[in-house]
Amino acid sequence: MSQKNSNDLQDLQYFGEYGGVNPSISDSSTYTFISAKTMFDTFEGNTEGCYLYSRHSSPSNLYLGEALAALEGTESANVTASGMGAITAVILQICNAGDHIISSRTIYGGTYAFMKNFLIKFGIKTTFLDITDLDAVANAITPNTKMIYCESVSNPLLEVADISALSRITKKNELPLVVDNTFSPLTISPAKLGADIVIHSLTKFINGTSDCVAGVVCGTTEFCLSLKDVNNGAGMLLGSTLDSMRAASILKNMRTLHIRMKKHSENAQFLAENFEKDGLRVVYPGLPSHPGHLTMGDQMNTEYGYGGLITIDVASLENANALMELMQERKLGYLAVSLGFYKTLFSAPGSSTSSEIPLEEQEEMGLGNGLIRFSIGLDDDIKRTYELMKKCLLDLNILDITSIKA
Ligand SMILES: *Cc1c(COP(=O)(O)O)cnc(C)c1O
Repeated sequence: MSQKNSNDLQDLQYFGEYGGVNPSISDSSTYTFISAKTMFDTFEGNTEGCYLYSRHSSPSNLYLGEALAALEGTESANVTASGMGAITAVILQICNAGDHIISSRTIYGGTYAFMKNFLIKFGIKTTFLDITDLDAVANAITPNTKMIYCESVSNPLLEVADISALSRITKKNELPLVVDNTFSPLTISPAKLGADIVIHSLTKFINGTSDCVAGVVCGTTEFCLSLKDVNNGAGMLLGSTLDSMRAASILKNMRTLHIRMKKHSENAQFLAENFEKDGLRVVYPGLPSHPGHLTMGDQMNTEYGYGGLITIDVASLENANALMELMQERKLGYLAVSLGFYKTLFSAPGSSTSSEIPLEEQEEMGLGNGLIRFSIGLDDDIKRTYELMKKCLLDLNILDITSIKA
């Protein structure tokens, strides 16, 4: 990648009211006007720099939005109260009753449930398919199709979408390509590869401290303004508004994202390589054995590595549960959903974050019930972590049973 978005982010400065090095937090839900005429104009969206009511916008949310637009290299960005708040607003803004969506079948469980179970209320149908099968994607387009939706690196199977190739399909058919980039901030810049709308759950890597829930929609100024429209904007009307206090704290945490991503990736790469050598069934985009390794290599910003998530298949849910409990007991991480924390987090997606997906569909997409998803932490001594994790595997006899070398 030629121009680094992280430089734009680095140069983005906001000062507090008294010259503070962080911007002041706007601790208000509503704003006063000297003249009634200005209030009317603001309501109509005709006054730059005027605030009306904090569901519409607030200074703190705008600062965070600008930082995220700089991160993704888009014109604009709207922050939301959760990742799902961003996803649902984007879909309901673009799709009308009876429309059609093409989506990757390996996506976040909540997004899958929303498309499959909730959008049906509006007669909006989704075709779920293998997003790496580009012919299948092109062939699924109908006159009612309104968007192609995927995750750059998918949850939980870590499939890598070829965003440039998908964007050639969407551009040819004049459809928006919507990409959830939650798993790979900085590593992949979907907008630069041709995505029209980039979504994040800020709850994960971008905030990085597992203390709040938030999301963002990055896109054109036109689209972001349409979401905020008082008469028909899904962002404004569905009401998934981020609190200003949280927006301010997320912006501060974002300042160390580049350092954290490099460390998450370095640690995950080390563990993935060593566990693969030990004969475990490891999935990590940074391994040459991963089907998306080359695609990822072509589209990534190399210095941030292949990301902080790995999965290991230990053959059965019993093994997975025993291993996770033992690792937690030995302080190697927490048995918890979510990702992007300083501590390693692990869960069995089949029975937790992807449990919305029916069992037979889980099997079809390769989501076995012995699969453990790891969000690798920022451990300073990853070699020690590796040895302690391996000891857990050996003590439970899991290494011998599941080894593909055996
Ligand atoms: C967590 C997550 C979401 C949902 O975000 P929330 O902040 O929990 O609403 C969406 N997509 C992906 C890939 C996620 O990991």
